[in-house]
Amino acid sequence: MRVLQNNFIERRKTREINLGGVRIGGNNPIVVQSMTSTKTRDVEKTLEQIKRLHEAGCEVVRVAVPTEEDIEALGEIVKRSPIPVIADIHFKAEYALKAMEKGAHGIRINPGNIGSEEKVREIVEEAKKKGVVIRIGVNSGSLEKDLLEKYGSPTAWALAESALRWSEKFERWGFSNFKVSIKGSDVLTCVEANKLFAERTDIPLHIGITEAGFGESGVIKSSVGIGILLYMGIGDTLRVSLTGDPVEEIEVAYQILGSLGLRKRGVEIISCPTCGRIEVDLPKVVSEVKEHLKGIKKPLKVAIMGCVVNGPGEAREADIGLACGKGRALLFKKGKVVKTLKEGEMVSELVREIKEMVKNG
Ligand code: SF4
Repeated sequence: MRVLQNNFIERRKTREINLGGVRIGGNNPIVVQSMTSTKTRDVEKTLEQIKRLHEAGCEVVRVAVPTEEDIEALGEIVKRSPIPVIADIHFKAEYALKAMEKGAHGIRINPGNIGSEEKVREIVEEAKKKGVVIRIGVNSGSLEKDLLEKYGSPTAWALAESALRWSEKFERWGFSNFKVSIKGSDVLTCVEANKLFAERTDIPLHIGITEAGFGESGVIKSSVGIGILLYMGIGDTLRVSLTGDPVEEIEVAYQILGSLGLRKRGVEIISCPTCGRIEVDLPKVVSEVKEHLKGIKKPLKVAIMGCVVNGPGEAREADIGLACGKGRALLFKKGKVVKTLKEGEMVSELVREIKEMVKNG
């Protein structure tokens, strides 16, 4: 079992790969990825979504290329995308080859559904020539037949064995510019499979819980699965898969990473759950403040607390904080009380002070 070193998670030592200028593995920060939900053949819509993802903090984007039209659109998307683009390929080796021709920085394949080992090797040889990163994607929904027969179902060992098997082949073919993802919708299987793989190689891992679901339940499932893996030091890139606008995945990803001290981006709001001591409409104050702070990238800890029990303590520990009381609140900045605010000015004054802090670096 891994232990914390000085309250920091000790990350698994992995080799470094370079995906279109974004370094993954080694000592690099854990990279946040997402996938577009537009039809890739709709170049403008796809680029508009990539731009929004990039603004939210996405560092690598994956696009689906299920048809010829999508492949044709890929060149223009790669050229104009502000972040490296991975082409997601299933079933057709020729699409992987064409995607590389179009300049994709990375290819995601599930070698088990590409048709034959020869075809996978052809893709690997081309990637080698072009300096393209491959992601071997192993998924519980599309495991090789022989492994399903051997294990009876997509167990953790079945998934890990599939990933290890392909990794060994890639290395035997003289290719090391790849990473692996082992995903399943069952959290425990997914965690265990990643752990089994991680213990046996130094290959970078892309982590996530696939088909995690919609809204709150998807966020919870992803946070639990990804959180456990990160705590074990596993994960060099990640995606939070949610049903809906992919931009929402980015905020959740940074919140997971931030809560484990692995990366910081944007405002972290610490607020109490409220109880019978509360004298202020705290949920309203918090949601109004949150709304005003959208888009801030500077890492800042903001405490908004309901009363004097834990309020001053938390507000003092944050970069800036409010400890509310009846009709008024103490405003703390860097551990010191700087003023007393009336209830009607709490939100506006706190937001003004935060924006000032952001402006002054
Ligand atoms: S800070 Fe005060 S109001 Fe908030 S939960 Fe604690 S005791 Fe209750």
